[in-house]
Amino acid sequence: MTKTKHAVVIAGGGPTGLMLAGELALLRVDVAIVERRESQVLAGTRAGGLHSRTIEVLDQRGIAERFLSQGQVMQVAGFAMIRLDISDFPTRHNYGLALTQNHIEPILAAWVSELKVPIYRGLDVTGFAQDDTGVDVELSDGRSLRAKYLVGCDGGRSLIRKKAGIDFLGWDPSLSYLIAEAEMTEEPAWGIRPDERGVNGLAKLEDGKRVRVLLNEPHVKQGGEPTLDDLREALIALYGTDFGVHNVTYLSRFTDAARQAASYRERRVLLAGDAAHVHSPAGGQGLNIGVQDAVNLGWKLAQVVSGTSPENLLDTYQPERHPIGARVLKLTLAQTALMRGDERTKALHENMSELLTMDEPRKRYAAMMSGLDIHYDLGEGHPLLGRRMPDLDLVTESGPRRVFTLLHDARPALLKLGEPGALDIAPWADRVKRIDARYAGVWELPVLGAVAAPTAVLIRPDGHVAWVGDGTDQGLRDALTTWFGPPTAP
Ligand SMILES: Cc1cc2nc3c(=O)[nH]c(=O)nc-3n(C[C@H](O)[C@H](O)[C@H](O)COP(=O)(O)OP(=O)(O)OC[C@H]3O[C@@H](n4cnc5c(N)ncnc54)[C@H](O)[C@@H]3O)c2cc1C
Repeated sequence: MTKTKHAVVIAGGGPTGLMLAGELALLRVDVAIVERRESQVLAGTRAGGLHSRTIEVLDQRGIAERFLSQGQVMQVAGFAMIRLDISDFPTRHNYGLALTQNHIEPILAAWVSELKVPIYRGLDVTGFAQDDTGVDVELSDGRSLRAKYLVGCDGGRSLIRKKAGIDFLGWDPSLSYLIAEAEMTEEPAWGIRPDERGVNGLAKLEDGKRVRVLLNEPHVKQGGEPTLDDLREALIALYGTDFGVHNVTYLSRFTDAARQAASYRERRVLLAGDAAHVHSPAGGQGLNIGVQDAVNLGWKLAQVVSGTSPENLLDTYQPERHPIGARVLKLTLAQTALMRGDERTKALHENMSELLTMDEPRKRYAAMMSGLDIHYDLGEGHPLLGRRMPDLDLVTESGPRRVFTLLHDARPALLKLGEPGALDIAPWADRVKRIDARYAGVWELPVLGAVAAPTAVLIRPDGHVAWVGDGTDQGLRDALTTWFGPPTAP
């Protein structure tokens, strides 16, 4: 039987898989998604929103407005439920967005559909076999696809990760939570109720009638589908009544287990999102870092499949993204510990709250939780190197322009800000655009504050700075070759 071919197959069309597909499609890669669900409809609401850096990343592709127009802009960053205000941060999006995952996914899916990415729906990837030139991807209907690369974006229980033999290392759960959406005949005890193990909460859902229930269970449970009896039992244990819970439209269990893939790549198979890292929802990080994994990987994979860059460009994915996942795991462990309601932990939480009212600690933690401090280690140099490029208001020959608009097509850009003159990128002109512009304002980075104005910056498609000019072109050719492939012969 002939196999349908794609350059890249993505297993899983959740937020990470959709974002990755969009990135690849923008760069004209033949990409397809295989997704178990028949539609994008999600059972339950799951993630509660987007942090600042994720909004920026979406803005870099010109799609942030689609999300902002459906959610509520607010200060969402927090640490162990201690609110961290970022309204004084130097970013256009000095806030987060309250918008639940069941709204986020359809917006991403619509974008991916505009980009004409095929989605094989209602099918599982059931296995794969890789060789020197590609991967055979088996589907649950007996068909198989052939791809140059397979990316597992198939969530925390990732089959791709397991079949690739990649270890999932970390911490077993200390807590399990039931999360439900249901009706109640009695008026529930609204709000958050901490107990010795952690927090519990009963909140009104959007329709104002149904209740979103979050309960930590008396005994840690893992796996297995929770039942209505489990929910009743947990409600009674905490509130002394089950409030007449009925008509449960969503019931699930999650834990505070924290695990991370030992490797994000096994030859032609890569992992991103929850497939690469799972942890408790404390701090609301999972969806956000999954989307950002996708934006880090997408352009690299596109350049490798098109032959623009050698395969070793993919070796930069893990060193850049694994530390981010590892940091999030630790942050969630710390927050889970801090949210226990016993007297000693409450005292610790009070101290931490006080500490975070001070400016310097607040800025550091807020930048971590909002993703604005991400710094890829690209070596010594100007503070901008490896950090996110700020969305400056530029003046160009054709009028005013924001930096992020330069990245809408997911292609790299050399931004020249000094005197017009020799920065010769002709051998990369087919890949890297050159923009001459002026910027008169201050260069300011979150936490670091003002930094020296560069004369030029080379910006990767993910918005991170790959080279900073100081009036000369020293290091520019190396940076161009490292990130965007060898020069084209004249
Ligand atoms: C209660 C709760 C609250 C949360 N709150 C937040 C929050 O506020 N902020 C935040 O950032 N994150 C939050 N998260 C985490 C967030 O939901 C996940 O991190 C996010 O969904 C991960 O996206 P993903 O695309 O990597 O994986 P998933 O969303 O798990 O998507 C994986 C996809 O792969 C499909 N799939 C699985 N196996 C296969 C297969 N073999 N073949 C084909 N398809 C397959 C699945 O159907 C699914 O669509 C929360 C999670 C929970 C449970």
